[in-house]
Amino acid sequence: MKYDYLVVGAGLFGSVFAYEAMKSGKHCLIIDKRPQVGGNVYCENKSGINIHMYGAHIFHTNNRKIWSYVNQFADFNQYINSPLANYKGELYNLPFNMNTFHQMWGSRTPSEAKAIIDRQKGQSNGHVPKNLEEQALNLVGEDIYRKLIKGYTEKQWNKDCTELPAFIIRRLPVRYRYDNNYFNDRYQGIPIGGYNKIIGHMLLGADIEVNADFNKTRDFYRKMAKKIIYTGPIDEYFDYKLGELEYRGLSFETKCLDIENYQGVAVTNFTDREVPYTRVIEHKHFEFGTQPVTYVTYEYPCDYARGQEAYYPVNDEKNQELYNKYKVLTTDESNVIFGGRLAEYKYYNMDQVINSALKAVMSDL
Ligand code: UDP
Repeated sequence: MKYDYLVVGAGLFGSVFAYEAMKSGKHCLIIDKRPQVGGNVYCENKSGINIHMYGAHIFHTNNRKIWSYVNQFADFNQYINSPLANYKGELYNLPFNMNTFHQMWGSRTPSEAKAIIDRQKGQSNGHVPKNLEEQALNLVGEDIYRKLIKGYTEKQWNKDCTELPAFIIRRLPVRYRYDNNYFNDRYQGIPIGGYNKIIGHMLLGADIEVNADFNKTRDFYRKMAKKIIYTGPIDEYFDYKLGELEYRGLSFETKCLDIENYQGVAVTNFTDREVPYTRVIEHKHFEFGTQPVTYVTYEYPCDYARGQEAYYPVNDEKNQELYNKYKVLTTDESNVIFGGRLAEYKYYNMDQVINSALKAVMSDL
């Protein structure tokens, strides 16, 4: 066999795996069904602006080891994600913090805000939340739930908040401080030179094939390597034989505007149900760009169907159970490692994917 590893999918999991394997002298072939490498962190540079082609990616982590790991591939700028929420024209700071509470109710101190939220928690107070709605009410009360969470979440997931797992809303901090940093992590930034630089560095020396669909030509590819690293959807790998897992899709509409600054912030969330997109991303602000033009992307959540791009796993009970059954099947695939958001069916952040890839490669070398 020509290669030690065939890496299916050139996103972060596959690229980290390949980089570490090659460092140990292994030969890797990395294939991707898209026309380029980089998975969802892939960017295109237009007019000097890096456009995040598959959704905005802001690197953040609490893990010092992962932070120094990514810094070997690129320096990071000082970007701190501080999105705005637009609810029917009213603007609020995110995540939910003293600025939001002040804008919502005029409260000036943490105890004033707490008193309002406690009153609004109503029946949810003190109960272990069974779903996203109960969790949200419990954290921030009725007003914020109705204006900033319910509409956004239901269009994002196309499910009622009572049918979604509570952990999804716990991704967002709730803070009784005036602090608009969307993440609690100690390290945060955007790679200077863009994410492509990181992926390019990781894949230096690998054999790469793009426009290559593993699931359509498996027999051909299986003969090429001793081991396969599979990062695609796990149900697709097993030909959906136990049923289809649910994913959420996204579609993007990007426009160039002949103005310097469109919204004054990188991310604005549109939180009412009627606006069909969830976010407007103005890419230049991730890198403090001063170009005379700007690029904005409207992000529309959409249904996913077999063969389309899967973005988010829907980790409710039903899908989790099905995933667990697929996971059992992986034990028979002794020469395949399954990793990443789609193969592990996990709502991973970038640092978690990198961590998971490092563990996988270290335990295999
Ligand atoms: N969310 C919300 N309102 C917002 C932003 C987020 O209700 O303005 C909820 C929504 O359910 C979303 C979840 O919080 O799916 C996680 O948001 P995050 O920004 O982490 O999503 P991602 O960037 O992964 O799409």
